[in-house]
Amino acid sequence: MNQEARDKLVEAELSGVKQIRGALVTKDGKCALGVLGVNEDASNIQQIRDLYGLNGLAKRCPFYGTENERPACFYYSPASRFEVLVESSLVIHLNDVHHLSFLDIARKFPESSSD
Ligand SMILES: [Zn+2]
Repeated sequence: MNQEARDKLVEAELSGVKQIRGALVTKDGKCALGVLGVNEDASNIQQIRDLYGLNGLAKRCPFYGTENERPACFYYSPASRFEVLVESSLVIHLNDVHHLSFLDIARKFPESSSD
C-alpha cells in the first residue's frame, strides 16, 4: 500500500465516510477498497491495485497470532505457508474481520516490498 492510498483512507476517515463491511460500495457507505475507488462489482480492481501499490504480497495479517488483540488471527497459517496474501485481499480482511477503521488500516497496513 503506497502513501497515496494511506492518505486517501485518512481523508475518508476525517471527512466522515461511513464504513461498511461485507461489500465494496453501497448507497450506505464504502469499505476501505471502496474508498480507494474500487467499484461495486470490482471490475476495476486491477487498476486500483496498480494505482495504490496493492499488488504486493503481504506476509501475513498484522494481527497474526496476537494474544492481546481480538480477534486473534491466524489468517495465513504456517500450515499453508505456500499461500500468499495479495495486499488488496488483506485490506478487505482488516476491514471486514478486524473491523479496523479507515485510519487504522492506513496506520497498520504492513509495509510492502512492492512500494
Ligand atoms: Zn487478521
